[in-house]
Amino acid sequence: MKVKSLPFYKVIYRTIHYGYQKLPVHFWIYIIICVTLVCFNFLSIKVLQELVDAVSYVFLNNEWDEVNSLIIMAGIIFALFRIVSGIKEYFNNTYFMTFMSKILKDMNAKAGRLNLIEFESLELFDKINMAIGGVNYAIRSSIDLINGVIYYTVFFLCIAVYFYTIKPELLVLGVLIFFPQLLSQYIKGSKMYKLQEKIVTYERQSDYYRKCLVDKTYFKETKTLNASKYFLGCYQNKVNQVNSERWNVILKTSAISGILTIVTYLGYILAFVLLTYYLLEGSISIGHFASIYYSLTKLMDTMKEMVELFGTIYQNASLAGKLYDFLELPEEMGMEKKIDTVQSIKLENVSFHYPYTEKNVLNNISLEIKKGTHVALVGLNGSGKTTLVKILMGLFKPSQGKVYMNNEDVSEWNTNSYIRKISAVFQNYGKYNLTLRENIMLSDVNINEDDNYIQSKMEVAGFDYCKENIGGQLDVMLGRSFNGIDLSGGEWQRLAIARGIYRKGDFIVLDEPTAAIDPIEEANVYKRFEEISKDKTVVVVTHRLGSVKTADRIIVLKDGKIIEDGSHEELLKLKGAYASMYLAQAEWYKR
Ligand code: ADP
Repeated sequence: MKVKSLPFYKVIYRTIHYGYQKLPVHFWIYIIICVTLVCFNFLSIKVLQELVDAVSYVFLNNEWDEVNSLIIMAGIIFALFRIVSGIKEYFNNTYFMTFMSKILKDMNAKAGRLNLIEFESLELFDKINMAIGGVNYAIRSSIDLINGVIYYTVFFLCIAVYFYTIKPELLVLGVLIFFPQLLSQYIKGSKMYKLQEKIVTYERQSDYYRKCLVDKTYFKETKTLNASKYFLGCYQNKVNQVNSERWNVILKTSAISGILTIVTYLGYILAFVLLTYYLLEGSISIGHFASIYYSLTKLMDTMKEMVELFGTIYQNASLAGKLYDFLELPEEMGMEKKIDTVQSIKLENVSFHYPYTEKNVLNNISLEIKKGTHVALVGLNGSGKTTLVKILMGLFKPSQGKVYMNNEDVSEWNTNSYIRKISAVFQNYGKYNLTLRENIMLSDVNINEDDNYIQSKMEVAGFDYCKENIGGQLDVMLGRSFNGIDLSGGEWQRLAIARGIYRKGDFIVLDEPTAAIDPIEEANVYKRFEEISKDKTVVVVTHRLGSVKTADRIIVLKDGKIIEDGSHEELLKLKGAYASMYLAQAEWYKR
């Protein structure tokens, strides 16, 4: 999953290519606007030269006609320049907004195509965060690049030709002014490029500590624990690290850019002295003097603008590159496979370890679950239950061994093609700030079931939506983000169960779905659930053994291995791990 960062030139290529691919019409219009602006810009220099020469001629011959028409022309050029600049500004915004929506769409589609296992690593979240930051820069860079490459190249070429036709030496001076600024921005950009990579982890950490201080999830506990000072310290520490890295880079780059700016100004002064000499010597006209002087000032400003622009592109390229890094992450491959029903799932010598870890969390597991069987997975925390259900569902691919669905090897299949047949409720379910209806329908937006169907699923989950604060409204907004109704932990959990069973799967996975529900209601939920899932395959992960003793099969996991497998009665007779866990829990209830 590790992908090397893209080199600068590739980022530039991708940026231009991406811009062209996504918005070809905008791209061409933008080029035309840039070329038009350059033409006006250069024309204004030529008109200035003609105008100054004409004015000096007027003093000698008193002929105003030519001057008048040149003044009108200069006015028209100036007005047109302003109009096209305005259009460019407007176009910049449109291009930005349209491009933004296209990139975000691509990013979402990409995230959907990644292997789920990638989401288990923090590195992916770093990449996603950086890519989101990179979106803005990728778009800005693409606009700046078109502008920069077209506008400045054409402008400098025109000026170079113009200087060459007057005095070739002027070209050398132009380069003397131009080159140090370019070098300075290159150095600044490359340092910033590296800095960005370095500080991203610190920024993520400081962001996390900030959340521990102010985020709804942590705020109350942090306050009760009186841990605010601790988190503030951690936060400050990371912010200081970011600032000190930044400060180092700023110091170095400012010193270099200071020296190079002095060289530029020296070149500028030299050019002025030379021009005065040519004028006194009579080898250039006063019009030439004025226009060259004006061009040099314009060149200076434009160059400053340009090096700053390319500097920004260079700096931004590191962030824009993150977007492409993300878009290039390996995707879930495999062929589409249509499955009508899940008749059986079989694991053969399956072992598994998470990315960036060596240790197997599942070891050599072999197991077959046939359609209609109700299985309970039990074991201590960390014994591998959740990981095992994710392998059974095809969400994770085993590191070793094979998984068969309906006796066919699934390793070559695309998970998305058969996951629709599986319903699941996990312990870390989402509390979506959407309407009640949307919260349930999310598990399968492709089926359009009526309210009765939705209500029947809520009933099974024990979610009483007719109670006072919801008032039987399916379209009521839930969660506090949009002023909706907040639910208790148990209610959110029941809602998650209703969502899980809304999807019409014949293989249902419940991974500790009832931890926040009281034991009596939990027993009721399981009872109703068993009734509706008689002919379905069910895998339940739970700690409360009392609720799963009616399961056809209870599988006990320890350190990633199956240590017991049988019915409740069989395992009690065995007097092994399950029996002692069950009896210990029974003792608790007797007290
Ligand atoms: P259980 O569901 O039985 O509590 P899990 O399947 O969640 O167990 O976890 C099994 C082991 O895998 C644990 O040791 C846990 O620390 C480890 N583990 C879980 N998720 C990850 C992850 N994303 N990266 C690395 N290790 C993980």
